Amino acid sequence: MHIAIPAERLAGEHRVAATPDTVKKLVAGGHAVTVESGAGLAAAQPDAAYQEAGAAIAADRAAALAQADIVLTVRPLDEDGIAALKDGAALIGQLNPYHNHNLQAMAAKRVSAFALELLPRSTRAQSMDVLSSQNNIAGYRAVLLATQHYPRFMPMLMTAAGTVKPARLLILGVGVAGLQAIATGKRLGAVVEAFDVRPATKEQVESLGAKFIEVPMSEEEKMANSGVYAKEMSESYRQRQGELVAKHAKAADIVITTALIPGKPAPKLLSAEVVAAMKPGSVIVDLAAETGGNCALTRPGETVRLDNGVTVVGQTNLPGLLAADASSLYAKNLLTFLGLLLTPEGLNLNLEDEILSATLVTHAGQVRFPAAD
Ligand code: NAD
Repeated sequence: MHIAIPAERLAGEHRVAATPDTVKKLVAGGHAVTVESGAGLAAAQPDAAYQEAGAAIAADRAAALAQADIVLTVRPLDEDGIAALKDGAALIGQLNPYHNHNLQAMAAKRVSAFALELLPRSTRAQSMDVLSSQNNIAGYRAVLLATQHYPRFMPMLMTAAGTVKPARLLILGVGVAGLQAIATGKRLGAVVEAFDVRPATKEQVESLGAKFIEVPMSEEEKMANSGVYAKEMSESYRQRQGELVAKHAKAADIVITTALIPGKPAPKLLSAEVVAAMKPGSVIVDLAAETGGNCALTRPGETVRLDNGVTVVGQTNLPGLLAADASSLYAKNLLTFLGLLLTPEGLNLNLEDEILSATLVTHAGQVRFPAAD
């Protein structure tokens, strides 16, 4: 098979979908790999490293994609990228299925497009789980971003000049990113508390040595949130949650919000009134900035210092800030996924396989997303 890796086009996207390590394995498996020149540079992987691993370097994207049976990307291809694909090629990456306006264009080219955000959160899929590998990085990086803007120490310090209190860190949303933010905050010596609508997260929060903030829930509400993903909550629950979150946010020095509901706008957890009541010098890092933000005052892509001295960080694409490791983990996820697809005879598009079926958004001229339940 001929596999291509184009350079990412989105501004600020420094990741790349294959590393010399994964290229080497693909070449050893008998595949021809072409990398667009410069694709890995921002992730600390120069063209020469790919060449050494056995890849050919293409001068531009069109040349890289022209012969490709399989194309690996981090972000969705734009219209020109889709136009440059070979008819019937396979495209694998984070294709943003809920907001991708080019699904029809991909179907028209008979592209078999796999959106890896739709991977089932199962044990079998864990080694391909790009959301986990990238959100883990986002959680870590969010805490470091907060420390850049926070004008105090994180740990408690007892010095001859006096005692410094530890920072109080509040994490809202305890998926993969939230858990890593808790762990990173603890490593830096902060006092950490966390909240999530899914009751199952209490044990995970406590196992990391943080305190779980519990919103009283009816049995019905607990049942609704017993799955892997959170559901949108009722008005009555949101009110109970809002009061408790407001109380803890006012006492916090740093708030990191990570709450997401797949395919929906991010739930608003911090209102303008709550932020207005927070302490001067405190910092909010909103990891949901790209899908509307968990904080009412977040501006995606910007860092804003408010009049009351609170800083709101709306940085998007945090994994892109750690592009070398993010790419390396992402590329390994893709390599494992390719293991399901590649056979010595060619592509194995076995739609009985729940991983392939769940992620395949266009195939054989049809758009398959959203799937009919
Ligand atoms: P996510 O990015 O979809 O959401 C982040 C967190 O926000 C979730 O924990 C969610 O419950 C929470 N949230 C949503 N609305 C909220 C609200 N109003 N208030 C507070 N919190 C709210 O989550 P994720 O990191 O992708 O993880 C999603 C699920 O997948 C979790 O259950 C996780 O344990 C599971 N998971 C499974 C595997 C696996 O088995 N392969 C791997 C990774 C994650």
